[in-house]
Amino acid sequence: RRKWKRVVGVLKELEESCETTVGRLKQVVDAMAVEMHAGLASEGGSKLKMLLTFVDSLPSGSEKGIFYALDLGGTNFRVLRVELGGQRSDLDPDVEQQPIPEQLMTGRSEDLFDFIASSLYQFVEKNDSVQSPITKLLGFTFSFPVKQTSVSSGVLIKWTKGFAIRDMAEKEVAGALQQALTRKGLNMRVSVLQVNDTVGTLALGHYHDADTVAAVIIGTGTNACYWERTDAIIKCQGLLTTSGGMVVNMEWGNFWSSHLPRTSYDVKLDAESPNPNDQGFEKMISGMYLGDIVRRVILRMSEESDVFGPVSSRLYVPFTLRTPLMAAMHEDDSPELTQVARILKDFLDIPDIPLKARKLVVKICDVVTRRAARLAAAGIVGILKKIGRDGSGGITGGRSRSDIKMRRTAVAVEGSLYTQYTMFREYLHEALNEILGEDIARHVVIIVTEDGSGTGAALLAASHSSEN
Ligand code: ADP
Repeated sequence: RRKWKRVVGVLKELEESCETTVGRLKQVVDAMAVEMHAGLASEGGSKLKMLLTFVDSLPSGSEKGIFYALDLGGTNFRVLRVELGGQRSDLDPDVEQQPIPEQLMTGRSEDLFDFIASSLYQFVEKNDSVQSPITKLLGFTFSFPVKQTSVSSGVLIKWTKGFAIRDMAEKEVAGALQQALTRKGLNMRVSVLQVNDTVGTLALGHYHDADTVAAVIIGTGTNACYWERTDAIIKCQGLLTTSGGMVVNMEWGNFWSSHLPRTSYDVKLDAESPNPNDQGFEKMISGMYLGDIVRRVILRMSEESDVFGPVSSRLYVPFTLRTPLMAAMHEDDSPELTQVARILKDFLDIPDIPLKARKLVVKICDVVTRRAARLAAAGIVGILKKIGRDGSGGITGGRSRSDIKMRRTAVAVEGSLYTQYTMFREYLHEALNEILGEDIARHVVIIVTEDGSGTGAALLAASHSSEN
């Protein structure tokens, strides 16, 4: 006996605890909007940090000139150059990538920045005159924990990702780079310090489409930022910008609400993670985790029945089932589910299971991804609601919903989950339609951007060219 009943029971329980009815999603929308408000009201007022970015102007498409960006956030760094012609056009940046020599990651900060400055110098030399008296502008993407103090400055809180440079603690980051550029004799100014890639995504989106109000990244992790009126940023009284607005980095991966549909698998995944009680939204949505939720469900089914044969020891190893593999199984459209069979065999050591069991695996992937995509959609609508772009505001007596003048609204999206995982993308769109209703949803467009952390930073250097 294969104990199908048990397995079907586990599936049913999974489906029930992952339920995302429109009613439930609307509760998540409301919770997101409420938490955003709380995070803006006071420091520590919400699990959403709602960080000020000091980015108070977004590129419009009319920028002109040559702009540079430096993207440092891991073991490689990239230098970029874009030429803007004053009209929106396809951006075709020159990009070069280089590894950072290991000894520089743990040495002195001067050596690291001198190395980077030399690379920049060589890069500039290839295309432009290094001697030119015109100051070149650089957007610096620095993906480490930083306390931002202005659009072009911030203090390092701590190194992560293998870097350990002692003399950098509490130091101003853009200044350290600027000094190295000056030592090198490069006439270049760090005009923007960008510590979060979502901000670059928003800049890039806004360059291409001026109706862009928010940006979302759904890749290994997930985060979002959006354009907020400064008078709504209550925790920072008296904050004034020329534009009257500022980009706020939500750090939405840490969003939490009791309305989120949570399973026993989520609870365990969280408890066994290095950061329990943190990044709860991210753990239900992003590429780092989806495959592992599926692994946990298969493990449970395998333990409770013999439909997957003897329990494979591989099933006990966290993160053996990566999200791209999960996506490949989910999207296997062969009648015999040959991809599913191959992946189960090659990666989980589960050979030769009946078609019925393979179908079950596809179903698990579907449930987990559908929940993730629908929650991401609810998060997006939460942002729109906070800024009055969800079509719910402005209903005056006597007018029906379809009479509302809904402004066209664009959201920039980046990340492989959205761009590479078709089912995820389709479920996200479907949920946007369900939550907003077709009439409103027609006015909300998702635009896909590429490389906010690089190109976006160069564009921010352009839109902040006259400051400081
Ligand atoms: P980043 O690591 O900067 O977020 P990406 O946006 O490319 O970069 O996201 C990478 C993550 O997306 C991977 O960790 C993986 O989990 C997931 N991913 C990559 N390709 C696919 C795919 N084809 N289907 C589903 N998920 C994918």
